Amino acid sequence: MKRHPLLAIILLALIGLGICAALSRSLYNEETKSIASQFQGDIQQAAAVFEREVLLNLEVLHALKAAMDIMPGMHSDRFRTLSEGILDRSPAIMAFAWAPVIERDSLRGFERVQQRLVPGLRVTERNEDEQLVPVSDRPWYVPVQFIEPLDKNLAAMGFDLASESLRLAALETARDTGRLVATAGIKLVQEPDTQQGFLVFAPLYRGHPDTFERRQSTHYGYLNGVFRVGELANQAIGLGETSSLLFQVVDISDPEPNVLYSNADPEDPRWVSELGFQTPLSDVAGRAWRIEAMPSQTYIDRRRGYLPALVMVSGGLFIALLVIYALINLHRNRLLNEAKDKLEKMSLTDGLTNLANRRHFDQFLEHEWGRAKRLSTPLALIMLDIDYFKPFNDHYGHPAGDECLREVARILQGVVRRPTDLLARYGGEEFAIVLPDTDNAAQVAEACRAAVEAAKIEHKLSEIRSVVTVSVGVCARTPGPTTSLEELKEQADAALYRAKDAGRNIVVLCEPGR
Ligand code: GH3
Ligand code: MG
Ligand code: MG
Repeated sequence: MKRHPLLAIILLALIGLGICAALSRSLYNEETKSIASQFQGDIQQAAAVFEREVLLNLEVLHALKAAMDIMPGMHSDRFRTLSEGILDRSPAIMAFAWAPVIERDSLRGFERVQQRLVPGLRVTERNEDEQLVPVSDRPWYVPVQFIEPLDKNLAAMGFDLASESLRLAALETARDTGRLVATAGIKLVQEPDTQQGFLVFAPLYRGHPDTFERRQSTHYGYLNGVFRVGELANQAIGLGETSSLLFQVVDISDPEPNVLYSNADPEDPRWVSELGFQTPLSDVAGRAWRIEAMPSQTYIDRRRGYLPALVMVSGGLFIALLVIYALINLHRNRLLNEAKDKLEKMSLTDGLTNLANRRHFDQFLEHEWGRAKRLSTPLALIMLDIDYFKPFNDHYGHPAGDECLREVARILQGVVRRPTDLLARYGGEEFAIVLPDTDNAAQVAEACRAAVEAAKIEHKLSEIRSVVTVSVGVCARTPGPTTSLEELKEQADAALYRAKDAGRNIVVLCEPGR
């Protein structure tokens, strides 16, 4: 982390963004849940209204049946009078029919009476090709005798309701229970595929039978209502094609559910099936129905708030600001560190020669002495002093003296090349070289001396030569119980003095260690 601050900032920013995203996501999910329960509430309400509408319409059939019970002698005018007003006010009811039970022996007589109303009428059933044909021989029939509105349903006149197995089952149940019985969904001619209809049979009896046997013996016919499921839904909730809700009425009485009505195309991609919801309706004339609904994406989007997005955006912005702040700080720290390094270097460097200064030399020598002690290796120290430098300054001037010092520094640098060695300006016109783990310090010292002499820097006032020369003292010691760093320095210094005494421009080695 300390080494890679940028990586740390990126990592922390990513973690921060991750937390923001998780928070925003969980808010979003909570919101979705609340929209789902709102949707379920909407659907339950719509289902309740729809259910009431269905029951009201079935109630109409009940009322008509009650009217017939008190005037059993039915004829076409009476039937029309009774039905017409109700049909006008109830768009969900397509037709009412009155169908008596006719024994085999009475079939011809029934047809003759009916032919006075509809010439050529026969009691019919559908053959395999779905065509209407005269009925085959059966013990009894339930032919439609009156139907309203007649003009639209003329073809149904005389149709034997008992000729189809599904209708027959419903007819028998109605007769035996005395209750209204609905059929499964049927396709209605002239209606779109998305809406089906269903028939409801109300059994008619003479009197008010209350047992199975009495119902069998007093039963004489049926009142029959044809209902449109779509119209019932329209009356109740009026959801159009473009609604943001998909509302379906499904008959689930049979093993295979049958969709009776859809307000819109259920295959449309706009529906969000994950939030789909179902709720059952109470018994519809013996059939089990349920409502299946899905919201559209628009329904959901309209109910969404800004909080999740706000959390994400503001969190992201906040993190971006923090990152910018951290980057600025990082840059400032880098500049500070650079300045510090520069200062440190300056504090360890001699300004004139660019060599290590006395401070650096002291630290380095101490450090290397410690290391030599640990490793039991020799450490060598070379001390160099320019000969007759005071007269050089006096004769050529101080600036030339400075230049001479720089030149000698460059020459010595050319000789001391091992990266582990340290060449330093010791002070004034004196230089020092520290050579760790070296056994040829004397040779290095001689090379330095020879190199300065060979550079031929003019020095007219030198008492020994006409060029600048150096005197050199060398000492090497392996740290031990009797050898100290002080001794090494003293010995090197003493050797330098002896070199001066011995006539200068020479290398003198120190006394061997004790
Ligand atoms: P010896 O041969 O015995 O070493 O004699 P010397 O004249 O070289 O020694 P001394 O110690 O008498 O003189 C050293 C001179 O070095 C004195 C001083 O003016 C000069 N000096 C010290 N530091 C600098 C510097 O930074 N620049 C210049 N130009 N001269 C310096
Ligand atoms: Mg000196
Ligand atoms: Mg000198």
